[in-house]
Amino acid sequence: MAEQTKIFTCYIPGLDRRRIDQQNTPYVHSLLQDYPSCRLRTIPSTELTPTLLTGVGPGKNKIWQVSLKDTEPLSPMGKLINLLPEFVTTTAQCFAHLINSNNDLSAVPWWRRRQFNLHRMKYTRRETDPECLDQIGGYSSILKELGHDDAGYVFCKHFVDMENGLNIFPRAGKRLDFVEFYGFDLYSHWHLDNVDKINEKLRFVDSFIQRLHKRCQDAGVTMLLLVDHGQELIRASVNIKKILKQSGIPRDEYVYFCEVSAVRFWFKTDRARTAITKLLENLEHTTLQTRQQMFEHGICFDDTRFGELYLFGNHGHTFFPHDFYNPLANLFLGITDKLLRPRLFNARHRGNHGHLPDHPAEEGYLVIGDQAYDVAGEIMQLTDFAPTVMSLLDEKPAEHMTGTPIFTRSIPATEQTSASA
Ligand SMILES: [Zn+2]
Repeated sequence: MAEQTKIFTCYIPGLDRRRIDQQNTPYVHSLLQDYPSCRLRTIPSTELTPTLLTGVGPGKNKIWQVSLKDTEPLSPMGKLINLLPEFVTTTAQCFAHLINSNNDLSAVPWWRRRQFNLHRMKYTRRETDPECLDQIGGYSSILKELGHDDAGYVFCKHFVDMENGLNIFPRAGKRLDFVEFYGFDLYSHWHLDNVDKINEKLRFVDSFIQRLHKRCQDAGVTMLLLVDHGQELIRASVNIKKILKQSGIPRDEYVYFCEVSAVRFWFKTDRARTAITKLLENLEHTTLQTRQQMFEHGICFDDTRFGELYLFGNHGHTFFPHDFYNPLANLFLGITDKLLRPRLFNARHRGNHGHLPDHPAEEGYLVIGDQAYDVAGEIMQLTDFAPTVMSLLDEKPAEHMTGTPIFTRSIPATEQTSASA
């Protein structure tokens, strides 16, 4: 009988295809030349793991930062807090976050934060509680479908985790290992302007992938190299907070949530909707999208709770200050996290992604490190990943995993085993 297929997914976000070459990444370069691979179209978000694992987009899994709450009238205490300067409330919230990391979005001023429901899956949560990936928004992931004995997710943040991983991975007994090596993406966010440093890390990552692939081959495990986006060098930022303030529209007539790559808006009066839409339509270095236009990018929400209007920074442009920035928290992170050191000199990201998808910085790729497969198309969607893994493992994808499996076996497993024997 043919041996059961085993998959090791080496997930390295940020490993931009434009930076794959013979000089710094000769091994990945040869993988892309010699093995079946597919381009990967992403969605305009920085939280892609939930979509990869469930096979359904944010419209269903609901990992989409924030939604607007039905507003409750302010208590007398609330009215008092509402009068405080933003810096005071965000700093107090950041200290609360330090004590308990469940106090999320602490850099969002209280008057806006109180209006949001949170729909985030931060990497810190995936790291400490991988079981949060079993069921997302009511949709089971491939990890849940395969069961904990057969499938496992591991989060690795630091480059040293890669080095250590070579002693562990692939894990015996797992039919699916899904390992997220986040370090390179995080490093790129803060070092993309330093070509020498990035090249040094590219060479390290390339050598890591080469050694990992060898270990997988020796263990009879099929390696998938999954990259779901690259990163674009940041040249300038847009101060949307200042622009909104200067517009003169009272702040209680609209709500906004400002990420690094995009700002979303909700309006409470027609006057605010008309004036702000007009203002944003003419704003340099940005692109305005309606909720309906977001459907084209795979973001399908039936109502405006998750955002009425979206303003994206064009590639090379971010929003700053954004809703993840607080000066004290920035100082703290720059001191305590080695990967984030450049924050100390400048709090703006150096590289970014999560903007509109029609740009090479947002494109990813999937390579299968086994020549016994054929690839079914040139470009895949994020939602094709889950059914692809299930079909590689000869399992039926869950009903909600409606994407297309992208790799099919061209050489039957029995033949390959007898040929190699
Ligand atoms: Zn990132």
